[in-house]
Amino acid sequence: MPGLEDLYREIILDHYKNPRNRGVLPPPAVRAEGHNPLCGDEIEVYLQVEDGTVTDVRISGQGCSISQSSASMMSAAVKGKNVEDVRALVSRFKNMMSIEEGEPDTSVSLGDLEALQGVVKFPVRIKCAVLAWNTLAEGLDISLA
Ligand code: ZN
Repeated sequence: MPGLEDLYREIILDHYKNPRNRGVLPPPAVRAEGHNPLCGDEIEVYLQVEDGTVTDVRISGQGCSISQSSASMMSAAVKGKNVEDVRALVSRFKNMMSIEEGEPDTSVSLGDLEALQGVVKFPVRIKCAVLAWNTLAEGLDISLA
């Protein structure tokens, strides 16, 4: 039986090798970009928000396996969700990454994203894991502006 860490490693590798929702969206989709200079990660998040729901999301950019797999998992997790749930998920993810204080909002499920919780043990990689999420939050702000 493979251990939980092996399973997590497999999920991360799968998203790195077969990234979900890769590409761009034309306007009126919003575009937000994020950089993690510590590691050289670059992420672009394209968001289509209609009637308070994230109807489509695309990821572009490059970087390490943690940043790219986190972006892929994020895209799969938020597509089709309403903005409120997406914000709750961002908050819960950052809570798991120990960069947000307080009780996590457990109304949304992390699902595969739990595979990234091991990153917390490597503080320099936390920025890699959170990059896509901060960029997503920025995109949400733009779309609602
Ligand atoms: Zn990185």
